[in-house]
Amino acid sequence: MPNNCYFNMVVSGNPENLRKFLELFIYEEDIGGDKKEYFARTFLESWKNIGEFMEDKKEEIENGVIDINGWCAWSCHSCWIEGYPKGKECITLIEACKKFKVSVVVESEEGGMQFEEEIECDEEGNLKEDCYDFVDWKCKKCGEKSGFPRAYEKESLEDETCYNCDSEGFWEDIREMEIKDLKDMRVIVSEEEWVKCSEELKLELIALSRMTGEDIQNNLTDEENKLYDKLAYDLDGGLK
Ligand SMILES: [Zn+2]
Repeated sequence: MPNNCYFNMVVSGNPENLRKFLELFIYEEDIGGDKKEYFARTFLESWKNIGEFMEDKKEEIENGVIDINGWCAWSCHSCWIEGYPKGKECITLIEACKKFKVSVVVESEEGGMQFEEEIECDEEGNLKEDCYDFVDWKCKKCGEKSGFPRAYEKESLEDETCYNCDSEGFWEDIREMEIKDLKDMRVIVSEEEWVKCSEELKLELIALSRMTGEDIQNNLTDEENKLYDKLAYDLDGGLK
């Protein structure tokens, strides 16, 4: 069984083209039937058929911008970019945008494998695509880690339950913890002392810095950054 990848797609185009573009989705009544052309495994099954969907989105269509929420099997990438299953009925996103002169902006979330996608395609078929892993948070009650989308803040996690111990909303941002730990470590380890550090401690710091490198760099003062670079340089040298 594939995992469901939930997406939000904002499509812009003229109303006539938007209506044609909407035929590419699989509505409840389409499931199991034949369709001449469609996005592979891409479902808007909350709507019985395209007629019902268009009725719902009447105003948006007339205004030239529609907001669509649906789901794909596995990932938007595998369904629209790879075009799985490769068959002549399954149109890719690039083909569809060019054919119907629409541009799309997509955000998706896949909770099973814990990733999110950002996809954009304009009416010339220029595609931009990014995929990110969920960020790990730690349950303060039991210590179990769980991933959530990058945009989630502590407030958005108040209703999220730990699958391990069932407690709700006790999430701690591991990134913040790691940055704090690293700062603590630096207070202990001055540049001079660094060379005297045990290999084990050095390795620990390497692992830590590689895990959260970007976040660390963005959260440090200039002076801390200089030290960070120096430490990383020494460490890489020492490992060769
Ligand atoms: Zn827990």
